[in-house]
Amino acid sequence: MNEQDTPTTSQQASSAQVSSAIDTKLTFADVYKNSIDNPSHFWAEQAKRIYWHKEPEQILDDSNLPFTQWFVGGETNLCYNCVDRHLEDLAEQDAFIWLSSEINQELMETYPNVEQAFSDLGNNVEFYTDYTKRRLTYNDLYKEVNYFADVLQRHGIGKGDRVIIYMPMILEAAYAMLACTRIGAIHSVVFGGFAAHNLAIRMDDAEAKMLITVDAGLRGGKVINYKNLVNQGVEQAIHKPNHVLVVSRGILPFEAQPIDVDYATERRISCQANAIVDPVWLESNEPSYLLYTSGTTGTPKGVQRDTGGHAVALTTSIDYIYDGKAGETFWTISDIGWAAGHSYTIYAPLLAGMSSVMYEGLPHRPNPGIWWRIVEANKVNILFTAPTGVRMLKKQDETWMTRYDVSSIKSFFLAGEPLDDSTANWLSKHLGVPILDHYWQTESGWPILCHTPKFDHKPHKKGSPGYPMYGYNAHIINEETGEPCAAGEKGLLAISAPLPPGCLTTVWQNDKRFVSSYFNLFNGKEYSTSDYAVADEDGYFYILGRTDDVINVAGHRIGTQEIEEAISTHPEMIECAVVGIHDELKGELPIAFCVIKDHSLTESTESRFRLEQQVIGAVVKSLGGIARPAAVYFPQALPKTRSGKILRRAIRALAENKPTGDMSTLDNPPAIDAVKQSMKDY
Ligand code: ATP
Ligand code: MG
Repeated sequence: MNEQDTPTTSQQASSAQVSSAIDTKLTFADVYKNSIDNPSHFWAEQAKRIYWHKEPEQILDDSNLPFTQWFVGGETNLCYNCVDRHLEDLAEQDAFIWLSSEINQELMETYPNVEQAFSDLGNNVEFYTDYTKRRLTYNDLYKEVNYFADVLQRHGIGKGDRVIIYMPMILEAAYAMLACTRIGAIHSVVFGGFAAHNLAIRMDDAEAKMLITVDAGLRGGKVINYKNLVNQGVEQAIHKPNHVLVVSRGILPFEAQPIDVDYATERRISCQANAIVDPVWLESNEPSYLLYTSGTTGTPKGVQRDTGGHAVALTTSIDYIYDGKAGETFWTISDIGWAAGHSYTIYAPLLAGMSSVMYEGLPHRPNPGIWWRIVEANKVNILFTAPTGVRMLKKQDETWMTRYDVSSIKSFFLAGEPLDDSTANWLSKHLGVPILDHYWQTESGWPILCHTPKFDHKPHKKGSPGYPMYGYNAHIINEETGEPCAAGEKGLLAISAPLPPGCLTTVWQNDKRFVSSYFNLFNGKEYSTSDYAVADEDGYFYILGRTDDVINVAGHRIGTQEIEEAISTHPEMIECAVVGIHDELKGELPIAFCVIKDHSLTESTESRFRLEQQVIGAVVKSLGGIARPAAVYFPQALPKTRSGKILRRAIRALAENKPTGDMSTLDNPPAIDAVKQSMKDY
C-alpha cells in the first residue's frame, strides 16, 4: 500500500490561546528594543501565552548574577501547557505524526513481533511500503501521558527525582518526557546509541532513580541493542537506578533483569483504571530537565533548564521566530537527545498547539525522497534540521528533490553547524522557499541569532544566521579588553547577563562549572558563547567558528571555518573540515579534509592533483596565501557527533598522530578509519 495525498484531518485551531496578548503589527526593531530596555515588561507580556496556576510575583530577579530567575513565585506545569491546555480547542487535532522508515510493511517478516508490540503499547499504526505511521491527537496524547505518569508514580517517581530517558525516536519517548514534567520529575534524555560507559557517567551525575529504555533501536536497518547497553551501564554505574522501565518494541528478545519493569504490562493496568494524574505545579524556577551538550569540544556539560521560563521562551519563539500557528505542522528533523529535537520536536510545537512530526529514520532511506514524501503526505509547514542531513541529500540523485509536492513548506530553518552558501543555494533552488540559517546552543534552548520571517521588513542575508533575537543582549566584544567591536571587526560573541528566559540556569549540581564555563570573563557580566563572530553595518552577525578552532599561522590568526567556507565553493564539495597542526616553523598549518561527490576522482594521481590544486586555489583566492592548506586529503566521510557536528578535535588528533581523546559522542566510527586512510593514500 502506498499512502495517498491525504490532507491532515486537523481542524484549524484558534491561535488565540497562544498569541492573544501580542500585537503582531510591531516591527522587529520595536520588539527587540523593548525586550532589552524593559525586559520585565516584555517578558510579562510573553508570559501571558502560557497557563499559570499561580501568576508570577516578580518577572525578573537579577540580584544574583550570573544566576537569573524568571517569573519568580509563578506556578505552572510544562506538560499541562503542552497537552491539557489544548483539550478544549484542539482535542481531535494531531499532536504528533510519528513516522518510522526503519519499520515498514516489507520488514514485518524480519521482525515478526513488532506488530503485536505496537498493539500492546496501544499504538494504532498504519504500515506502508516505505514507512510506518501513527497519528496521535491531543486527546490520545493526554491519555497516554497520563498512563505513563501513573506508571512512573506507581514505581516511586515523584517531584525532583531524576529519570534518564535513553530511547530512540519513538512516541513513548515523548510520553516519558511529558509524563516526567507532569509529575515534576527531572528528566534527562541521553542520545540513543551512546556506549554503556557514557550512560553510567550520566546515571551517576544525575543520580537517576529510574532509567527508561527500549529493547532495541534501528538505524539504517542496523539493530542497536539498547537493552544490552543499559544492562552494562547499570552494572558500571555507582548510583544504580531502582528500576529500568523497558518499552519493548518486539525487535530484539531480551532476558529481563530483576530491576526491569515491562512498560506494556504496566500501561495496561493504568489504561484499565483510566488513570488520570494531576499535574504537579512547580515554581517557575524549579528544574524541568537536564540535557547534555553535544560534546564537540570536550566533555558534555549538563545543562539545567527551569520550568516557566522554558515554557514562555519556546511558546514565544514559535510565534516570533518560526512564525508557526496552532493547527500548522512543524517538523524538526533531529534526535530528541539533542537540543533542537528536544525543544522543537517535543515541547515548542505542543506548547503552541501545532502538530509535530516525529521521525525515526535517515534522510536517504529507503530512498533520498523520503523527507519530501513525508512533507507532501503530511502538509508540513515548517522544517528545521542541521546542515549535515541536507549535505547527505546533496550526494544523491538530484531528481529525488522534485518528485513530491512540497508547496506546503513556508520556511526551512537550519542550525547546529555553519551553513555554507552552496548548500543553502542548492536547497533553495529545489524547494523555492526561504532557507533560514539560525544560530543557537544547547545552553540557550532556543535561537540566539535568526532572521525572523514574521517581521520581514529586514532582508534575508545569505551567509549570516541573522541578528540577535529579542531578549538576547548579544554583541561582539574584544576578547582581551571586553570592549565592543566595531562593524567588520572580529571578536567573541557574548551575551550580557541576564540571559533571557529559557536559557540554562546552571550546570546540574555544579554552579562553579556554570560560572567557570560561561561567565569567566569581565566580572561575570558576559556570557561567552565560545564562538567568534563579526557583525556588518546593518547588525547582521556572521559566525566565524569556535574559539578553539582558530589557528595561528606565522602570527596570523585564521578561523578554520573561513578556510572551510572558501573550500565549499568548489562544485565537487559535499563537506570539509580544516584543522591546524603543529609546525616548527610557522606555529600551525591548516590541513583540509574534503568529502567530494565523486570519490573516484581521487583514484588517479592526475585528477587528484588537479582537485588538490583547485581546493588550494579557492582558499588562496579568497583568503590569501597565508591560509593556504599545507595538505588536502579526501576521506570518504568525516567523523561526526550524533547531533551531526564534525568532530574537528578528533580529526586534528588524527592529523597529528595523537590519541583522539573522549570519543563518546562519535556517531560514525568508520569515519575515523576513513580519515586515517585518506592520509595514507597520500
Ligand atoms: P560542546 O559544547 O559540548 O562542545 P556543542 O557546542 O557542539 O558541544 P551544541 O550546543 O549542540 O553543542 O552546539 C552549539 C554550537 O554549534 C554553537 O556554539 C556553534 O559553535 C555551533 N552552531 C550552532 N548553530 C550554528 C550556526 N547556525 N552557524 C554556525 N555554527 C553554529
Ligand atoms: Mg558548546
